[in-house]
Amino acid sequence: MPRLVMKFGGTSVANLDRIRRVAKRVGLEVAKGYDVIVVVSAMSGKTNELVGWVRETSPFYDAREYDAVVSSGENVTAGLLALVLQENGIDARSWQGWQVPVKTSSAHGSARITDIPTANFDDRFTRGMKVAVVAGFQGISAEGRITTLGRGGSDTTAVAFAAAHKAERCDIYTDVDGVYTTDPRIVRKARKLDRIAFEEMLELASLGAKVLQTRSVELAMRYKVKLRVLSSFEEPSDTAGTLVCDEEDIMESNVVAGVAFVRDEAKMTLVSVADRPGVSAAIFGPLAEAGVNVDMIVQNIAEDGRTDMTFSLPVDQVARAEKAVQTARAAGTINFHDLIADEGVSKVSVVGIGMRSHAGVAARMFKALSDEGINIKVITTSEIKISVLIDRKYMELAVQTLHDAFGLERA
Ligand code: ADP
Ligand code: ASP
Ligand code: MG
Repeated sequence: MPRLVMKFGGTSVANLDRIRRVAKRVGLEVAKGYDVIVVVSAMSGKTNELVGWVRETSPFYDAREYDAVVSSGENVTAGLLALVLQENGIDARSWQGWQVPVKTSSAHGSARITDIPTANFDDRFTRGMKVAVVAGFQGISAEGRITTLGRGGSDTTAVAFAAAHKAERCDIYTDVDGVYTTDPRIVRKARKLDRIAFEEMLELASLGAKVLQTRSVELAMRYKVKLRVLSSFEEPSDTAGTLVCDEEDIMESNVVAGVAFVRDEAKMTLVSVADRPGVSAAIFGPLAEAGVNVDMIVQNIAEDGRTDMTFSLPVDQVARAEKAVQTARAAGTINFHDLIADEGVSKVSVVGIGMRSHAGVAARMFKALSDEGINIKVITTSEIKISVLIDRKYMELAVQTLHDAFGLERA
């Protein structure tokens, strides 16, 4: 039998009624003759609640216990969906990550999948099982501890299963009907894309579009998984949603495919650090060791042998970053006059493979922002994206403005 992976996000399994709808949809694919692997998220809001409880215990919690707690939401939905499927007369059972086992690295809270053995499922499917319901987002480390894959990680579970089982397709069911030119909750005129290239989706995801976890797109690209994003609330159809595919499979596209944003960013500046070899390493080494995800980095022009070093990071890592650089300063490995943290910035990015062959995208972006009086604090570019850091209060305006400036509401 051909195999299909279907993944349902938190809103799609938010209560028993919705789980029943999911079961119906799974039943349709079973009726078509597929052996189905369903990957489920926790009920919407559940993971946030669990994370909140863990954080309340201590700011320096044991990451292994964090994973034990926050992985539990998925266990509930997996079991419930299996029960409802059985009620519908479908041979189904649930699997927690460790039972498969979904083997992962030991990086608790952001583990990477290293292996998914398939023999167990193969055997069950041969013996009549129709649906394996897998708890997403979780796995087991070589040390035998439960791990989680980072927020949004059920997408990655789904794609990893699709790759391991050579599934015909991986359908990601969510609360919007596909990938849009930007978050449709921010820009009402955002347009649904029928297709998007892997590389563009990868950039959009890593720059904040949470519709797919970045790692899931990476895996799909590497293992050539046919990946589709669609709504679990609309009538089923074969052409629904957005297909994430190779660049060559897209006939024509805009220079800019989409706009992404990260609302809660921060900017830190080390004022007056020595301008000599080794200083950047002395600053960013300890930050990396402290687990700070530094993104943009800007070094100003040096004056009298000293310079300012500015970088961006997620807002919730500011305290950790401050501690890391102050510790290095106290140890004498770096010195600076002042440390300034701006916790009120957002990152807005435009992404498109068309940028490779079109000049002037940056100029158009900066002009559009300046016409709205939005000040750009930091800029970074790569071959297919341009990102800027701006004051958070202008974030929505910036996203809207760029969406208009690049004509994204039109195909
Ligand atoms: P799920 O719980 O199903 O995994 P998520 O909340 O993780 O769903 O992802 C879906 C959400 O992603 C949408 O509700 C939408 O607000 C947001 N989103 C951000 N950028 C985009 C985009 N470019 N296209 C579609 N949705 C987007
Ligand atoms: N429940 C997890 C989260 O909220 C994983 C997921 O839904 O993809 O991040
Ligand atoms: Mg998600």
